[in-house]
Amino acid sequence: MLYLTDPDELGSLLTDHPRFRADQLREWLYRHPVLTTDEMTNLPAEMRTGLADRLWPFTVEVDRSTDRGLTRKWLFRAPDGVAYEAVLMGYPRRTTLCVSSQAGCALGCTFCATGQFGFDRHLEAGEIVAQVAYANAVLRAGGMEGVPARVTNVVFMGMGEPLANYDRVREAIRRLVEVMGMSARSITVSTVGVVPGMRRLATEPWAVNLAVSLHAADDGLRSRLVPLNRRYPLAEVEEAAEAFFQAKRRRISIEWTLIDGVNDTEDQALGLARIALRLRAHVNLIPLNPTPLTDDRPSPSRQVTRFAEWLRDEGVNVTVRDTRGRGIDAACGQLRVRTGR
Ligand code: SAH
Ligand code: SF4
Repeated sequence: MLYLTDPDELGSLLTDHPRFRADQLREWLYRHPVLTTDEMTNLPAEMRTGLADRLWPFTVEVDRSTDRGLTRKWLFRAPDGVAYEAVLMGYPRRTTLCVSSQAGCALGCTFCATGQFGFDRHLEAGEIVAQVAYANAVLRAGGMEGVPARVTNVVFMGMGEPLANYDRVREAIRRLVEVMGMSARSITVSTVGVVPGMRRLATEPWAVNLAVSLHAADDGLRSRLVPLNRRYPLAEVEEAAEAFFQAKRRRISIEWTLIDGVNDTEDQALGLARIALRLRAHVNLIPLNPTPLTDDRPSPSRQVTRFAEWLRDEGVNVTVRDTRGRGIDAACGQLRVRTGR
């Protein structure tokens, strides 16, 4: 599996070939990703054929698009049977790929489809990078019209908790930046508040963006929605976010999934505003995508507007995230649920 090999060790797979072949192969894998080895035109034909089945560390089990082709979602199946997803969203001047860091998630947030269906395993660094390379190959092949022909932004907002898979996610980021040539500023790590991971991330050489999924402004409600809050309560998460901001000078974003009658009240808005102002953070509001195992509903749109206004009145920067991909179960974990993992 080519992407499961360290990019600097590709030569070990090509012992019958001169060394420069490994460099050529690395260029194809990371700089000019293509969908099949056939397209690696400067490699000898027998080498291309020999590597044909080893290019992607997954099969593409589902490939769906919506929003007039500008949202595309894949369900990948690894050889050991686990499944994970990525969602590509195209805009006129940017393309954002939402990647998975784990197959499943062990943290069990009540409103999250991935959390509801448990944890299968961590993804390898190469499995994370391969999601980006695959989307790049699709874009280069003209798979989405009217958008840049490469992935410009990567967000770790697919399945899994990236900071619970720290070393592999770190290595994936290193390969995206140092081998693929992406800028760290175009990469966002989203965490539900794994405090030790947040603190480590602040010491890495790359200034990636940090998104903190908060969802509640007091420990009582937060522990109900996000069980990890019992281990790392709000004050500790806030401190770790502040430390990250101080170390990297990158604006933190706070993610808030709006659940009807649960965390869309004025009280919660005011609590959130206090935290956001202290952290100088930007708030992203995401109306809940309903999941099979709870009766939670998204806040109605007038309540979303009201919630955003309460925050703005306090001086907080707020964006209501678009709900791209609803029609194709593009929210976190949903495609796997629909296809029975
Ligand atoms: N584990 C990390 C990253 C993956 S989840 C985290 O929790 O931050 C990515 C984002 O999707 C999180 O902000 C999460 O709160 C949000 N999310 C999960 N389930 C959702 C749902 N059913 N509707 C809307 N957003 C959801
Ligand atoms: Fe895991 Fe994030 Fe889903 Fe919580 S919201 S269960 S941390 S993937």
